[in-house]
Amino acid sequence: MITPRAAAHVTALPAGELPAYVYDLTALDEHARAVRAALPAEVELHYAAKANPAPDILRALAPHVTGYEVSSGGELAHVREAVPGLPLAFGGPGKTEAELRLALELGVERLHVESEHELRLLAALADELPGTAPVDVLLRVNLPVGDGDLGGAALAMGGRPSPFGLDPRRAEACVPLLRGRRLRLRGIHAHLASGLDAPAQLAVAGRITAWAREFGDRHGLGPMEVNVGGGMAVDYARPHTRFDWAAYGRGLRELAGRHPGVTLRIEPGRAMTVHAGWYVTEVLDLKHSHGEAFAVLRGGTHHMRTPAAKGHDHPFTVLPTEEWDRPWPRPAALDEPVTLSGQLCTPKDTLAARVPVAELRVGDRVAFAMAGAYAWNISHHEFLMHPAPTFHFLR
Ligand SMILES: *Cc1c(COP(=O)(O)O)cnc(C)c1O
Repeated sequence: MITPRAAAHVTALPAGELPAYVYDLTALDEHARAVRAALPAEVELHYAAKANPAPDILRALAPHVTGYEVSSGGELAHVREAVPGLPLAFGGPGKTEAELRLALELGVERLHVESEHELRLLAALADELPGTAPVDVLLRVNLPVGDGDLGGAALAMGGRPSPFGLDPRRAEACVPLLRGRRLRLRGIHAHLASGLDAPAQLAVAGRITAWAREFGDRHGLGPMEVNVGGGMAVDYARPHTRFDWAAYGRGLRELAGRHPGVTLRIEPGRAMTVHAGWYVTEVLDLKHSHGEAFAVLRGGTHHMRTPAAKGHDHPFTVLPTEEWDRPWPRPAALDEPVTLSGQLCTPKDTLAARVPVAELRVGDRVAFAMAGAYAWNISHHEFLMHPAPTFHFLR
């Protein structure tokens, strides 16, 4: 659950550097290479930067991705600077006029349009631009999906009423709005859910592509791009497992074969980086309360909100330390369930509840796995004003 390189680093880390986020960039490189190899060569791979936008992460992925998906003006400027020259697709609801202007100024390669209003705004801004190059647009569509398709999804963004993308009927109304403007409709984008396994992803990708083909044919659009989104499942209860990229790649090859002239693109975030990061800390206190053991850790959900946000027990490994120089007995839990909590004054600051451990003592280190995505960057850092963790990018 922790790579030897990360474990060695964590064990040697001075206590003053805890809590720490540790990223194994070599493991990330190997993983991204394997993902790329599992996909057909003609399928484009964008990394969704919001999963983890740390510059070292973005750069480690650069050799393996076609480009990056960004969801705000902030991400746009940040990713352009961290990995200059690689294509960006700018999506997300509620783009402001200033953000759209920035996208045009920076020459963003693809704009994912989420509504008719946004399309009109973009067309008006594009008219003001000097030069003649059109802006390449994909319409993000909230497509109906089969009832069963999103059954296992952790987070559904589409296939039901939502603020994301265009209602399919409104997508039709966008086509005339594009005519005669400095916008070029390149295809369709859909990101309908997060947390789908490979068969569910393929079922959704098949529906999106079929819908896009029919839409494109009806409007005479010619060769089309179809971005079928991200949301590849990872399993926090089974940290050794991975999304089945091989099966997914085989399915995409078959899908591409059924739709010649369509360029398929995917934009995973979580499944790319989640396995390459650990949040490491130490046990500050250990006590029993009304019959249950509680380990209070340095740090907490203000550094890694993931278990609170997703409502799960975050997977962890205990890294025992033997030093104990206090003249009183070392507080310990032995062969019993322990709740790992943080330093915040709220019962929501729980990282894992009632998880059996062989032994856990004050001063032992704990490494939470699967902290490479949606961890530090989704957390409420300022709450209670505890110090920030340190960051380590291992090569
Ligand atoms: C968040 C997001 C992604 C990435 O989702 P993951 O679950 O991290 O793979 C891709 N596309 C869009 C539009 C998103 O909002």
